Amino acid sequence: MTRLIFLGPPGSGKGTQSQILAENLNIPHISTGEILRQAMKDQTSLGIKAQSYVNSGDLVPDQLVQDLVEERLNQPDVKSGWILDGFPRKVTQAVFLEKLLAEINQGGERAINLDAPDDVVVARLLDRGRKDDTEEVIRHRLEVYRSDTAPLIDYYRDRQNLLTVNGDRSQEEVTHDLRHIITS
Ligand code: AMP
Repeated sequence: MTRLIFLGPPGSGKGTQSQILAENLNIPHISTGEILRQAMKDQTSLGIKAQSYVNSGDLVPDQLVQDLVEERLNQPDVKSGWILDGFPRKVTQAVFLEKLLAEINQGGERAINLDAPDDVVVARLLDRGRKDDTEEVIRHRLEVYRSDTAPLIDYYRDRQNLLTVNGDRSQEEVTHDLRHIITS
């Protein structure tokens, strides 16, 4: 049973890596960013509420993402495990997740911090060219990462539940390491 939480700055490769691992393990890859982008595209009420935050690189309000994660983790396909990519992104969300997982009997999750230096992640994001990947928005997303998301590293370390992987390597090398970690 694999339940993984991916931490790391935008551009660290957590989206790519979690997708590869989820395919290998045949478990759902749950990316809150992707769910929000799809909702924005479909102009659902969630998408309409989220769009100004996503487009400016701010975090959407906890309640919106927490509701969507709760709904997603109650679907039947998560029984074989899951990979969460982009959630939690704040200590308040981590506290929520811990409580939710206890309630729905889905414990044993492990947090992986995919680490990469600022200059590397900025270069990767500029190269990716998503709508929220302009230089100004990237800079803001990194600030938000430092102030709101980076404290999760200590949060999971304090719970003896943090593995750090060097994301400043080729995709293949990182995948190799991650595979080794989750099977050991
Ligand atoms: P990502 O695809 O993970 O880079 O997320 C893209 C954007 O979606 C972020 O910049 C936020 O605006 C929003 N987002 C994704 N996940 C969360 C979350 N857990 N909490 C708040 N906002 C989120």
